[in-house]
Amino acid sequence: MLLELNDVSLSLKRDGKYVKILDGISLQVKKGETVGIVGESGCGKSMTALSVMRLLPEKAKLEGVIQLDHEDITSYSKRKMEKIRGNKMAMIFQDPLTSLNPLHTVGRQIEETLILHTDLNKEQRKRRVIELLNEVGLPRADEIASEYPHQLSGGMRQRIMIAVAMACNPSLLICDEPTTALDVTVQAQILDLMNHLKDVNEMGIIMITHDLGVVAEVCDRVVVMYAGKIVEQANVKELFINPKHPYTKGLLESIPKLGVKKAKLGSIPGMVPSPDKMPKGCRFYERCSSAMEVCKGTTPPMSSVGEEHTAACWLYEEKGGEMNGSSGSEG
Ligand code: SF4
Ligand code: MG
Repeated sequence: MLLELNDVSLSLKRDGKYVKILDGISLQVKKGETVGIVGESGCGKSMTALSVMRLLPEKAKLEGVIQLDHEDITSYSKRKMEKIRGNKMAMIFQDPLTSLNPLHTVGRQIEETLILHTDLNKEQRKRRVIELLNEVGLPRADEIASEYPHQLSGGMRQRIMIAVAMACNPSLLICDEPTTALDVTVQAQILDLMNHLKDVNEMGIIMITHDLGVVAEVCDRVVVMYAGKIVEQANVKELFINPKHPYTKGLLESIPKLGVKKAKLGSIPGMVPSPDKMPKGCRFYERCSSAMEVCKGTTPPMSSVGEEHTAACWLYEEKGGEMNGSSGSEG
């Protein structure tokens, strides 16, 4: 297993007290696999990624175990994490402009990563920069290397970010909404590139997105998050064809047709509860059309609902079924 999260929770300090942002997150990423994390904004997708990268605020409290390549990195020092970021794992974000330095040429920015994480000499670095630019599908690499971020299109800038991320051959690449700011054609090209790089380099990829079109395009497995918890996990086909959790069903119903791009989440009525006012039972209770009495007071456990398919919902537990039956007779 490349990456394993075991019962990971994250609390952040807000107005003087700790608020739990992530609650009991367990997930795995294999080599050569793309795992999608989906859910509405504020569900903890990005925080899960930032916990893995350990790019967290000063007073964040991280619990549970995070293993990378069978090594427990949970208690690694800041320094040790810095080494791992870039060497073993890298992250790309939605807006490359905020991550790129406007004052440096893109070639120099890729080279800086190489200086930080490799022993290559100047000559070798120059060659590697050109190689990387070619690998991410940028022709005229020589010219592009000497250009500044603002001289490039949004799609080209995202390719540069991918080149920076790939500069040290990471075994894990985390992408947070990497194509959200791009138009559909460019988005498809970037996703193709990511699929290609994954196959060539045998990387594991975590793809954070609220776009189910992106999930269908690149993911092998999907993790659905709601209000800081995982509510369902399955392989991508299974999830699209046979979703179990009412929240996942709601997300999928918001797509007009399977495979249609630009299908956005968020058409389920109601709002995600805020972390400091988390309900006691199922966190989806207020918005769920299948809600039962048991859901209100007791958190549903994760149940097996198919082959490598799990969901946290009382509908799939005996107890929930019985309660459902009895409450049904009451009308
Ligand atoms: Fe709905 Fe109950 Fe399942 Fe929660 S546990 S999703 S409220 S049916
Ligand atoms: Mg986010």
